[in-house]
Amino acid sequence: MPVLDRHQRPLGNLRLSVTDRCNLRCGYCMPEENYTWLERPEVLTLAELKVLVDAFCLLGVRKVRLTGGEPLLRGDLPELIRMLKANENLEDIAITTNGVLLAAQAAELKAAGVGRVTVSLDSLRPDRFYGLSKRNALSKVIAGLEALKELGFEKTKIDTVVLKDVNDDELIDLIHFGREMQAQVRFIEYMDVGGATRWSMDSVVSKAEILERVESQLGPYEKLGERNSAPADRYRLADGTVFGVISSTTDPFCSACDRSRITADGNWYTCLYAQKGRDLRTPLRSGVDAEGLAELISAGWSLRTDRGAEERVEMAERSALFDSEQLRKDPRLEMHTRGG
Ligand code: SAM
Ligand code: SF4
Ligand code: SF4
Repeated sequence: MPVLDRHQRPLGNLRLSVTDRCNLRCGYCMPEENYTWLERPEVLTLAELKVLVDAFCLLGVRKVRLTGGEPLLRGDLPELIRMLKANENLEDIAITTNGVLLAAQAAELKAAGVGRVTVSLDSLRPDRFYGLSKRNALSKVIAGLEALKELGFEKTKIDTVVLKDVNDDELIDLIHFGREMQAQVRFIEYMDVGGATRWSMDSVVSKAEILERVESQLGPYEKLGERNSAPADRYRLADGTVFGVISSTTDPFCSACDRSRITADGNWYTCLYAQKGRDLRTPLRSGVDAEGLAELISAGWSLRTDRGAEERVEMAERSALFDSEQLRKDPRLEMHTRGG
């Protein structure tokens, strides 16, 4: 039974974080030396994740994206996907990954039923990749993208966070690389979300600047359609190459946002910027079934008024959302716990 929030937005998309652990340390997401991790017993089992997804599907969710932390660190991921596939209402299971472990797992993920994969990749230069992520893993990520192409995955995306004076000279190289990999590149504005403790407006490359740079080097582009609940604006270059820009920092689009997020320990957030979530693990572990959970979720969603990114734009002074002390006290405020 579909449910609308206070701004008449349906519940359409679920981002499910399956782990808070990661094998990279991207400076815009996990810049600190130490982190407070979720306790292992708190992390949901496959059976619990399945009940949660079934509950959301009862309320109109048709697309689930598995994320993290790094979702491919969870060895039982293919099994989870097989379990979720059993729900006929679920039309699309996607994954967002840093790609490091993808080459080895892509075939099994496809066989299990993953429809689409988004790979996060911020630089094509090994030294820069290391500087950005603190790991030497660029060749593995490229092998992962090649595996997706060979296996015939469609609608693959490459997500790049653009950082001023760090990787903003690689936009054109990334567009060419995406075309080679049969993947659509999307440039993401650096966001002042939890985890981004070093954020400042000076490091942001805006959508307007990104488009200007692309146009100055590759010529005019045509805007494709209007943004709907998808976060990216899409553009087509003269040679037919399509790329996207996600402008959550300078030009957000909360009015059509149908996304929910769940942390690996079963806390539900109705906005990326929300400070408080709702604990779904306790009812889940006390035996509430998918129908019962759907009632709780429906009641929560119908009260939703979130428009976090738009409120950030309206602020006169803008700096990092949280400091590292706040994040240590509540790891669910972290981007790597909430799933991005
Ligand atoms: N580890 C996986 C990955 O990197 O694809 C999945 C989780 S990660 C938190 C999901 C997405 O969030 C990635 O594409 C990452 O680039 C993005 N992200 C993290 N911190 C961000 C920030 N401060 N601004 C913009 N995007 C960010
Ligand atoms: Fe990077 Fe994703 Fe890991 Fe964050 S969760 S550090 S974005 S790979
Ligand atoms: Fe949706 Fe919140 Fe992001 Fe706005 S800031 S698009 S309401 S998740």
